[in-house]
Amino acid sequence: MNILVINAGSSSLKYQLYNMTTEDVLAKGRVERIGMDSSILTHEVDHQPEVREVSEILDHTTAIKKVLDMLTHKKFGVLKNIQDIQAVGHRVVHGGESFSESVVVDQKVKFEIRQLFDLAPLHNPAHMMGIVAVESNLPEVTQTVVFDTAFHQTMPSVSYLYAIPTVLYRKHKIRRYGFHGTSHDYVSQRAAEFLGRPLEELKLVSCHIGNGASCCAILHGKSYDTSMGMTPLEGLMMGTRSGDLDPAVVPFTINKEDLTLNEVNSMLNKHSGLLAVSGISSDMREVVEAMREGNEKARLAFEMYAYRIRKYIGAYIASMDGVDAIVFTAGVGENSDVLRKEICEKLTFFGVKFDDGRNAVRSSEPRRITTDDSPVQVLVVPTNEELLIARDTYKLVLNKLAADSSEL
Ligand code: AMP
Repeated sequence: MNILVINAGSSSLKYQLYNMTTEDVLAKGRVERIGMDSSILTHEVDHQPEVREVSEILDHTTAIKKVLDMLTHKKFGVLKNIQDIQAVGHRVVHGGESFSESVVVDQKVKFEIRQLFDLAPLHNPAHMMGIVAVESNLPEVTQTVVFDTAFHQTMPSVSYLYAIPTVLYRKHKIRRYGFHGTSHDYVSQRAAEFLGRPLEELKLVSCHIGNGASCCAILHGKSYDTSMGMTPLEGLMMGTRSGDLDPAVVPFTINKEDLTLNEVNSMLNKHSGLLAVSGISSDMREVVEAMREGNEKARLAFEMYAYRIRKYIGAYIASMDGVDAIVFTAGVGENSDVLRKEICEKLTFFGVKFDDGRNAVRSSEPRRITTDDSPVQVLVVPTNEELLIARDTYKLVLNKLAADSSEL
C-alpha cells in the first residue's frame, strides 16, 4: 500500500510518499510560496538529482495537483497513475480535546477541526486547505489526520490545568495541550525497542529540541506532562520563542514600550529565545560557533537554553518519581553534542553517567551516550514524524477495509 503524507502550511506544503510494505520513502518534496508569484516545487527520489520546478501555484488544490503530476511524471515520477496512492495522511497541529488519536477524515472530523481554528489560527486552517485540496484531486481516496496534540490527551488534570478561574477552561478550553506529540510518541517507542524493555514499564523524559522545543514526561508509554502549553509558546527557550516567563511581563511591556498586544505576541514568538539573547541567530550552529569565537552573549544564550532543558528534565523526574532514560531528538537534540554535554554532565545526582566519547559519535541510528553501567540511560533517537503518520494511516485504512468488508 502506498501512503502519501502531507504537512500543509499556509504558503507551503511538504510531502512524502511511503511504500508501507517496506516503509521505504519512494519520493518526497515540498511546494513553497503557494499563492505568491514564482512558486517552487522541489521533488526528490532516492539516488537521483533533486528536481526543481518554478511555476505559478495560486492555491493548495493546484499545489496538490502539481505534486500528483510529479509523482506520476514519466521521467521523475515513481507511480504509474494516481490511483496507486491508497491513502493520504495529514499532519494537523491542534486536535484540542476532541481528538486523542488519529482518525479517518469525514464530515464530522472536518467540522471539529474547523471548531479548533481559534486555538491554532496559523496552522489548522492551512491543514484544512490541504485536506480539501486532496479531496478535490483524489475524491475517492481515504484521508486521515494525525494530531500533534493527541499523544498528550492522556495527561492528568494536575498537569494540564492552569491555576486560573476554571470558568476559562469550561468556556474556552484554556488549558495545556502540548505539541510535538507525534515525535514524543515515535521516539519513546524507538527508545523502548533500543533498551529492549516494554514501553509500559518505562519512565522516560523525551526532549524534542528543534527550532521549536519541548520536553515530555512519558510514564509507562503515556504522556504525563509536557512543557508546551495551550500554544507552543510555553516551556523551553527556543530558536525564536521565549518559553516560560512571568505573564505580568506582557502588560508591563505593553505599557512601557507602547506596544500592542499583537506586537508583544509577535515579539515573544518570533523575536525572542536564542535569537534575542544571543543577538546573532536562532540557529544553534551559529550560536555555538560565535560562542567558540568568544562571543559572551552567545555563551549566555547557549547556557540559558541548556539550563532550562536541564530544569525541565529535573522537574519531570520528580513528577514521575523516577526515570529510566532521557531521550534527545530533533534538529538540535540529534546533532548538537556540545549542548547534550552541557545538559547531561550536570545530571549526576539523578544517576546519569555521561560518556563523552559516545556523545561525540554521529549516527542516524538510535544510540546511547551514557556508560553501560549508568543507572539512568541517555539516548539520542532520530525522530520521524512522517513515518508515524504513515503508520497510523496504514492501521486506520486496514481497520476501515476490515469494517467495510464485514458490513458486506
Ligand atoms: P528541527 O526544527 O527539528 O528541524 O531543527 C532545526 C534546527 O536544528 C535548526 O534551527 C538548527 O538550529 C538545528 N541544527 C541542525 N543541525 C545542527 C547541528 N549540527 N548542531 C546544532 N544545531 C543544529
